[in-house]
Amino acid sequence: MIVILEPDLGGQEATVAQVRAVAARYPGVTVRPYEFKGTTHRFAEVHLLGPTAGVPAEAFAQLPGVRQVVRVSAKYRLIGRHGRSAETVGFEHNGVRIDDTAVHVFAGLCAVDTPAHVDAMMAALAREGVVTTRMGAYKPRSSPYDFQGLGKGCLPWVFEAAGRHGIKLIAMEATDAAHLDEIWDALERAGHPTGVMVQIGTRNAQNYELLKQVGRQQEFPVLFKRGMGITLEESLNACEYVASEGNARIVFCLRGVKSHLGEPHRNLVDFAHVPVVRRQTRLPVCIDPSHSVGTGLRAPDGLPDVFHATAQGVVAGASAVLVDFHPHPECALCDGGQALTLDMLGPLLDHVRRVRAAYEGSAAAFGRTPVRAASP
Ligand code: PEP
Ligand code: MN
Repeated sequence: MIVILEPDLGGQEATVAQVRAVAARYPGVTVRPYEFKGTTHRFAEVHLLGPTAGVPAEAFAQLPGVRQVVRVSAKYRLIGRHGRSAETVGFEHNGVRIDDTAVHVFAGLCAVDTPAHVDAMMAALAREGVVTTRMGAYKPRSSPYDFQGLGKGCLPWVFEAAGRHGIKLIAMEATDAAHLDEIWDALERAGHPTGVMVQIGTRNAQNYELLKQVGRQQEFPVLFKRGMGITLEESLNACEYVASEGNARIVFCLRGVKSHLGEPHRNLVDFAHVPVVRRQTRLPVCIDPSHSVGTGLRAPDGLPDVFHATAQGVVAGASAVLVDFHPHPECALCDGGQALTLDMLGPLLDHVRRVRAAYEGSAAAFGRTPVRAASP
């Protein structure tokens, strides 16, 4: 059972205390208060755990400051979109606000390789006014003989370049809890020239120990990538693991699912699930067209398949796009075939703006105008 308090409630502590007092009448029921910061409002919830089946909702609903009481299954207790709490719970990290009111494009290298390539990528982003990127330092690969990423050794110069080019947020995969410390140490040493959002890759979507570790830390928000061969429900439960350990600053990323039916694409594009994730959870939704499509091929209209898949996700309401670029895809050490070249950055951003405008037009027709102006 969740007791939802009025948004921006003054005297919130008093209401929480009253909820506690009422809950104390029911043996075995424990109380856990949570606070969320949405785009326009701060709101608090008190979660009642344990044998709540016989607890009457009215006992809480009548308390001053209580907006609504909802009964929830144990599922998605924290990330779920309950009752009238219609707002997506975004977050701000290092000055970048991620929610559902604008689209952020995390364009960058699948795998960091050389300082020159990192520099060229970030310079291109800076020219376009983009402050978000992706930079893989730890690469989970299918073959042990493939390039595994440069690891912590590249972090000092990646972060230095990010600071020089005004990059504020880097999506970077961690495949082991030790990587969190390595990333934090490197940021500390560099004087925090940028921010990092830790990516949990599809292969670790059910690595519960890693999920708990990223959930226990507060330094980094989390970009969780859907498991490639598990149900959407299982992936959302994995996010609930992260949130239940204390870190609810999560972006849910769709990246295609493994099925031969997706061929000749690398995965079967699953961006029709954007509205499903938005309905079932309060998480901002990201799409990764690069790992979904897995090819640089173009359609007869001249647009790369990656552009088309991007449009599918953005028009469905995604508010972040994770996309592979490389200054010289032919010499990329990982996933060069799907990387866009730097001359495609401007066209991709224009494409995203146009598609987002179409989405906003349709949302407005249903009376759901996004709160803030959209800009990738
Ligand atoms: C990646 O984004 O670099 C990556 C490995 O993606 P995924 O985990 O979705 O395969
Ligand atoms: Mn990749």
